[in-house]
Amino acid sequence: MEKEKGSELLLKATKINKSFGDFSANKDIDIDVAKGEIHALLGENGAGKSTLVKIFYGVLKPDTGSIEINNKEVSISSPNSARKNGIGMVFQHFSLFPALTVAENILIALDEKIKFKDLISEISKLSKEWELFVDPLKRVSELSVGEQQRVEIIRCLMQNPKLLIMDEPTSVLTPQEISNLFKILKRLASSGCSILYISHKLEEIIEIADQVTILKSGKSIATIDAKKTTTKFLAETMVGKEITALKKVNTKTFSKDIALELKNLNKPNETNFGISLKNINLQVNYGEILGIAGIAGNGQVELMEVLSGETITDNENEILLESIPIGSKDITERRQLGIETIPEERTLHATVPNLTISENTFLTYFSKYNKTDNIISNLLNNHQNSLIESERILKDNDVRCPEVNPLANQLSGGNLQKFILGRSLANNPKVAIFSQPTWGVDIGAATSIRQKLLNLSQSEKAVILISQDLEEIFELSDQICVINGGTLSKIMPVDKVTAADVGLLMGGKLDTASELEIIK
Ligand code: ADP
Ligand code: MG
Repeated sequence: MEKEKGSELLLKATKINKSFGDFSANKDIDIDVAKGEIHALLGENGAGKSTLVKIFYGVLKPDTGSIEINNKEVSISSPNSARKNGIGMVFQHFSLFPALTVAENILIALDEKIKFKDLISEISKLSKEWELFVDPLKRVSELSVGEQQRVEIIRCLMQNPKLLIMDEPTSVLTPQEISNLFKILKRLASSGCSILYISHKLEEIIEIADQVTILKSGKSIATIDAKKTTTKFLAETMVGKEITALKKVNTKTFSKDIALELKNLNKPNETNFGISLKNINLQVNYGEILGIAGIAGNGQVELMEVLSGETITDNENEILLESIPIGSKDITERRQLGIETIPEERTLHATVPNLTISENTFLTYFSKYNKTDNIISNLLNNHQNSLIESERILKDNDVRCPEVNPLANQLSGGNLQKFILGRSLANNPKVAIFSQPTWGVDIGAATSIRQKLLNLSQSEKAVILISQDLEEIFELSDQICVINGGTLSKIMPVDKVTAADVGLLMGGKLDTASELEIIK
């Protein structure tokens, strides 16, 4: 029977506390979820969202606090006991076995075993009923990420949940998959199932949620009616300060000068894990931001490696800087030619965590000046220079430090990224290549990083932006292309392409962009 939304409480959690060692991840959190309500949990990275829902699903045990389901206090000691209480969860990182089939994966997760034949018909029934199309006999390794998520949802639905928890379900989906998911969630909610939905995407929350609880540094700081709020208000509450809008120049003219070019670049993958880059063609002009969209794991890491010089190409003509072949040049040589790459991985790749900021600056400067006769005096000079330089970088880029010249690992994710960007841009590159520059960074830092990319293109530098965040790609790029399975789509002007087109390319639904209406 359908109940009126919000009329009855399903989950009531009171004063939930959870620490890891000295670190307190959840502090006195209260949250109420009504029957049939979609309740979003919003917060920056590290705010404590996953910790809280893992407590509800019995993966973590709270230090203190009480949980009531249907007005009755319960103790959720394990996922099994969560499921007995009607709670199902789809994890942020899926938990399926790739070598098993869909049905086998569902079977091993069921608390009550049923006959395989009945299982198959049950999966098919749910799959039809909820439009969660998957083949029960297919191996999980053959499924797209979106399909894997459907399997996880079906697995939850088999238990007939009263509360479905989803931890950042859309970060791995294409726009089409997101809109399908939202349809399902709305239908589930109207059939009386409550949904606890974690995200840090504001627009999604406004679209899907009834209520939104904002976590900050482990505390619940507000619960807001999602239908009566704005993304701006949510962002500012989440971050705790005003967010300034990006300044974009509308009347932008492009230089016709090609900066960097990839020509029929092939890089077979030498391990069993990576992706092979296949016949990649790409061109970025001075004054332009080229956005490369795509779901993680489609060759972004490999592309970044050949762009930076971490791996060199078999044929040096596959990469050209101002028409000059550079495919055989290494990272240091490319940096000297004016190419800076800012990788996704901030620790180890971009910085050494237990060295100071000035030592980390020194490492890049050392390679810049290493052609010297007197190594010792240059070392000393560079060390001194790097101290001065790093102080300037910290100041110019508004990097908040806990102390003077801290260790890299003492900076928060956003501040470390501001430092890494500042350090690269201090070299005044002609071409700057970024991979996921705002991943895991708070909105304030993300805005300042995005503004830096715009400023670079406005001062006639060439910028390549590899990002999974479609909003970011559309906001910043002049031209867009999509990487899927190691191939790159055609490059398209941003105003001639929609998020839906890009989504189809991301999902590998179109072989080339030439199939798109707009390109014809
Ligand atoms: P969110 O999901 O909001 O990004 P989490 O709940 O995953 O945040 O994490 C909150 C904080 O608790 C983070 O600073 C994280 O590093 C820390 N944390 C989470 N799990 C553990 C753990 N098992 N051990 C130690 N620290 C943890
Ligand atoms: Mg999380």
